[in-house]
Amino acid sequence: MSEHTDQSSVTVLGLGPMGRALAGAFLDAGLRTTVWNRTPGRDGDLIARGAVPAPSAEAAVAAAPLSVVCVVNYDASDAVLRRDAVTAALKGRTVVNLSADTPERARDTGEWAARHGIRYLDGAIMTPTPAIGTDDAVFLFSGPEKLHREHRPVLAALGGGHTHLGEDIGRAAAFDIALLDVFWTSMAGYAHALAVARAEGVTATELTPFAQGIAAILPPLFAQFAADADAGTYSGEVNPITSAVSTMSHVVHASEDHGIDASVMRVIEGQARRVVALGHGTDGYIRVAEVLARH
Ligand code: NDP
Repeated sequence: MSEHTDQSSVTVLGLGPMGRALAGAFLDAGLRTTVWNRTPGRDGDLIARGAVPAPSAEAAVAAAPLSVVCVVNYDASDAVLRRDAVTAALKGRTVVNLSADTPERARDTGEWAARHGIRYLDGAIMTPTPAIGTDDAVFLFSGPEKLHREHRPVLAALGGGHTHLGEDIGRAAAFDIALLDVFWTSMAGYAHALAVARAEGVTATELTPFAQGIAAILPPLFAQFAADADAGTYSGEVNPITSAVSTMSHVVHASEDHGIDASVMRVIEGQARRVVALGHGTDGYIRVAEVLARH
């Protein structure tokens, strides 16, 4: 078996919670797994499970045809990969970067890899560490489809669904950013709701079943709004944005009555009022996306 078709070994660079979960899944699948981390000592459990510790990042990448890098962001992956010895050792090998960052950083890394004869795939992980290696894991990839197909048997050890989104190297990061936007603005709303509820004597536990009910409304709304957004129709028949603005202002007033910072909801309300002021008051809330995209 030639070095590049070896499907029995893999390297993981970066042993934070996610890097350790990835390495653990590779080990569980019986792959020879070499590991390296900037700060030594994070590989103890993995070595006990059979991982091979590398003394340096260059030694780590030289140990397998495929290196998976998973560090905090692309400043960190640059610090690991763009050292001369590591770049040289990677020549002709494949890097899959599962660190999170912007589409621009992913494209820049793709160009760097091409300049140095390194085969490069970008990726994003859409599920937390306990899902890795299980059916619940979700991975997005972008870059050369042929390369993804070639390494699919090894990457499959990570479990779950793997979607190749296209040849544009920035596409996985583009999906990641949009999905992180959904996640963090939702979590910010939930954190704010807990503060307002507590000020009214409502515990988080009391609120939970109803908060879960609100969250369950969202998936079908996403499908409906996606159809609206792609068609540019923004139907407000069921709930026009003028009505939505009114409920937003209740949240602002109730929060501020308790001295709770309502700046996030004020921004949301302001965006909706702008849509109304532009003459779209009978449209549905998601017209905001179209107005935000106007520069
Ligand atoms: P972190 O995002 O905290 O990343 C920690 C890792 O980054 C460690 O290996 C750390 O090394 C390394 N690192 C940080 N700065 C540098 C640097 N300058 N040079 C070299 N290495 C550096 O933890 P996670 O492992 O959880 O996340 C890794 C990636 O996975 C992130 O991009 C994250 O967004 C993504 N992700 C994580 C999820 C999760 O649930 N944890 C879910 C989905 C995606 P050291 O030990 O030396 O500090």
